[in-house]
Amino acid sequence: MKLLILLSLFFLVPGLFVTRKAAAASRPRIFVLATGGTIAGRADTPSALTAYQAGTLRIESLLATVPPLRDIANVTGETICDIDSKDMTEEIWLRLARRVNELFAEESADGVVITHGTDTLEETAYFLNLTVKSDRPVVLTGAMRPATSLSADGPLNLLDAVRTAASPDAAGKGVLIVMNGEINAARDVAKTNTLALDAFQSPDMGLLGYVNDGIPTFYRQTRRYHTAQSEFDVTRLASLPPVKILYGHAADDALFVEAAVRAGVRGLVYAGLGNGSIPQSVETALTEAAARGVIVVRASRTGSGAVVPERSPAGSPFLSAGTLSPQKARILLQLALTRTANRSEIQRMFLEY
Ligand code: ASP
Repeated sequence: MKLLILLSLFFLVPGLFVTRKAAAASRPRIFVLATGGTIAGRADTPSALTAYQAGTLRIESLLATVPPLRDIANVTGETICDIDSKDMTEEIWLRLARRVNELFAEESADGVVITHGTDTLEETAYFLNLTVKSDRPVVLTGAMRPATSLSADGPLNLLDAVRTAASPDAAGKGVLIVMNGEINAARDVAKTNTLALDAFQSPDMGLLGYVNDGIPTFYRQTRRYHTAQSEFDVTRLASLPPVKILYGHAADDALFVEAAVRAGVRGLVYAGLGNGSIPQSVETALTEAAARGVIVVRASRTGSGAVVPERSPAGSPFLSAGTLSPQKARILLQLALTRTANRSEIQRMFLEY
């Protein structure tokens, strides 16, 4: 009997090792690129939800808070930066885009997750949506509560993000944002609340899907160009063209338009009233700016709805942002200006991306 047990152990144990090894080798390879934010934030007490330091937890500790990650993917953590995303820079965007492109080009990753502060998460996501040259999944996630808080949302958001990045269904859908059990498209999503857990919404187009019980499920996808179909290439760029946003309001005047033109901007996005309306007191200055070659895009401060092109018989000197928020219109205009200064060509890009 003892001999029988010994013999079966002799044959079974190595078999188990082989099966485990094979399972590990077949798991998707997911890189988690950390940039900081509240998901890596630390507060003094578990009840502190706003008084905390963003971007203090190292990527290794962040990954260690989510043990089931190991069963889903072969996860590699890497730090890009450790910042509060209010301080995000274009230099970091360029570095991030290049790193993701590099990981896919050298076949090191099947998917990428980026942990990010929520304040500018939608902007980084849209920038990557236009500059990552691959159909493989890229998923951004963050947290509304610091890692040290009671009911921190970061660990589950990270787990859901890795699950989505590891899912074949997420391929070809553009850059995604996974938070609070919801999947949104980089183009359409916005942070719509200062503190609520469901802060990320796509007010015009709605979400793409859910991650329920750890299963990413898609219901729709965007028709706008992104990632592998994008014509923008930032491989050799050291910086982006200067473009500013001006926020429209009652009793606005030409002060900031004139200052921006003097400072040498190449583009201006006017976050206009209603359907991108521009007060007369600002319009003259913007028309002059356009005559000097500054590309002016009308967007809206309302938070939803499309800004439709002006139908003036003489042709408008301004372009329209469609359903892009002012902050995303700025990014598209910057990338457009890396390719052309032709107004109708840039308007075409606003219709396609
Ligand atoms: N200020 C933080 C950041 O954007 C907020 C957050 O991550 O939720 O980095």
